[in-house]
Formats: sequence, structure tokens, C-alpha cells
Amino acid sequence: MLGTIPAYKPGRKAASPSGRSVKLSSNESPYGPLPSVIEAVTRSAADLNRYPDTAATELTGALADRFGVDEDRIALGAGSVGLLQQILEAVAEPGTEVVYAWRSFEAYPLLAGLSGADPVAVPLRGETHDLDAMAEAVTDRTRAVFVCNPNNPTGTAVRESELTAFLDRVPEHVLVVLDEAYREYVRDPQVPDGIAAFADRPNVAVLRTFSKAYGLAALRVGFMVAPPHIATAVRKTMVPFAVNHVAQAAAVASLAAEDELLERVAATVKERERVRDALLADGWELPSTEANFVWLRLGEHTASFAAAAEASGVAVRAFPGEGLRISIGTPEENDAFLEAAREFPHRNR
Ligand code: PMP
Repeated sequence: MLGTIPAYKPGRKAASPSGRSVKLSSNESPYGPLPSVIEAVTRSAADLNRYPDTAATELTGALADRFGVDEDRIALGAGSVGLLQQILEAVAEPGTEVVYAWRSFEAYPLLAGLSGADPVAVPLRGETHDLDAMAEAVTDRTRAVFVCNPNNPTGTAVRESELTAFLDRVPEHVLVVLDEAYREYVRDPQVPDGIAAFADRPNVAVLRTFSKAYGLAALRVGFMVAPPHIATAVRKTMVPFAVNHVAQAAAVASLAAEDELLERVAATVKERERVRDALLADGWELPSTEANFVWLRLGEHTASFAAAAEASGVAVRAFPGEGLRISIGTPEENDAFLEAAREFPHRNR
């Protein structure tokens, strides 16, 4: 069975003849860890001989305080991708179905397949979730629906009114997972904070991560906020000690330094708009984005653009035949990408 599941390929750095190496392929924060986070990591290293606190007591308490929710509604995982796997382990099995938009985060079909459930991909409408079609795709066999908001890789986001109407149509036996990995980059006030907006729904789980805005991708910490019975079920499917104590300490320190981290997010959002405006001015067509990346639908020119960018030392994420996702980096990194885009002989409009 494993042979039929496409491997998950993380982004990598491009090496160019010029020696330039700019990695804009994995939607990471371009900024290194804050001194306070390094200090917390160093301190926690003194206990490397001990197993971590598997209940992650301090981090769970800090998250409950930060988001104004009870601790029994929180579950942790080794990244939000770890939580996605835990969720599917808890709710899916052979003979059931998992619904998601496509194109979206590639882990959805991969992990649905691993759980034995049938992946049900609902095409995007334009570059956005088609929530009507997704509601229509729900059957008696559906156990989970994933809504990636903002969507990876298109950057588009669905609004609160649309999501509310969708949630009203989905039966309670179906768990709706709102994957908000990029929530901190959202600026459209009509795009909901799922934790605040849907807290009273019995079948909604919201996923967040420390990998993007909080800059801890290497440490693998994600969290879920959901009704207590769902959080309990998902906690049970975690590999014991999956979130180690170095990661827990770094996450706690990051929450304590949130103001500073959100300033970095604001800088990334500013750069996102600069990059988008520059691309539009250069004749490209691209959707507006609420995440830390932009999406260029390039069709047949996708692979050649990625190769050209790589030759100039800029790694972007190519979805061959479809388009390119370019993460927002530092101003210098973004300029390197814009220069590569300017030199590309084709445009997509
Ligand atoms: N959800 C989405 C939409 C993502 O894009 C990613 C990372 N690319 C993840 C979840 C997983 O991130 P992590 O496991 O690092 O939390």
C-alpha cells in the first residue's frame, strides 16, 4: 500500500553557480530564533537524559491562557501534520471518507490514504475552496472534512459568513478540521479566527502550529483546539512523548515573546504585499493572499520557471503543470525572487 502513496517532499535550498542560496520553498519564517528562545532551548538541554512531560503541562497551560480556552480542549502533536495524522487515526478507517479541497496541502490525501480512508478531493473554484461542493461531497461515510484557511498553496481564505453557512450544512457526525497553519498572517477582517468564532460547535477542531509565524519549524510543535471529547480522543492517538521537552520549552518561550514575533509577522505581511504588487506591475496575474506565500498559476511553464529560479539560487515550490508557490522571505530574498521572475520570458496573463 505504501508504494501507492506519493512521498512528502520537503523544500530544499537551491545552490546556484553564483553561490546564492535563497530558500523560499517551505513557508518557513525567514528569521532565526529569538535570544530568549535559544536560552530556553539551552536550559532545557540539561534534561536530555529524561523523558519529557507527556502531558506538556506548562505549554498546555500557556496555550489555554493565551487563547482563553479550557485546557481540556487542547491537544498537542509533532507539528500540525502530526495532529492531522492523530485526528485521522482517531476518526477514520477503511470504508470511510475524508473530504478536502484540491489543490490544497499535500498531506491531506497522503495521511487519509495511510489511515485507510478514501480521499475525496473537491476541486477549488478558481483559487478558492468551493464550500458548496465540499458540503455536497459529504456522505454517510464521511468522517472528516479539512478546510485549509488560508489555503496552501493558493493563499486564498474563506470568510466567516461562508464558513458558518458551510458548518450549518455539515452533519454533526463529521469532524470539520480548520487548518489554520497561517492564521497569524491573515489581515482580511472577514476571515475568522476559528478558535474564537467556532468554539461552541461540537464538531469543529482548529489546528495551529509553531512552525510558521513562531519560527520553530525544526522543533515540531502543533496544537489543536476542539471540544473536550475530540481533544481527548486525539490525545490518545499521539505517539508517546512525540512533543519533546526542548520543543515544549521553545514553544512556551515563543508565547512569552509573542509581541516580538508578531512584529516579524507584520514585516512579512508588508513584504507579501510588496512582492504581490511588484509581480502585478510586471504583468503577472496572481490571487490576493492571506498567508506568507504567493501563488503563481503557470501551467506548462511551471517547471521551467522553477528551474530558472533555481539556477539563479532561489528555491521555490513547483507543482508541475499547475503553478508555483513562493514563500515570503527577507526583503533581500524577495528581491532575488523578483529579479528571477522579471527575467523569465513568459507571463501568465
Ligand atoms: N497545514 C498546512 C496548511 C501547512 O501548510 C503545513 C506545513 N506546510 C502544515 C499544516 C504542517 O506544518 P507543521 O507540521 O510544521 O505544523
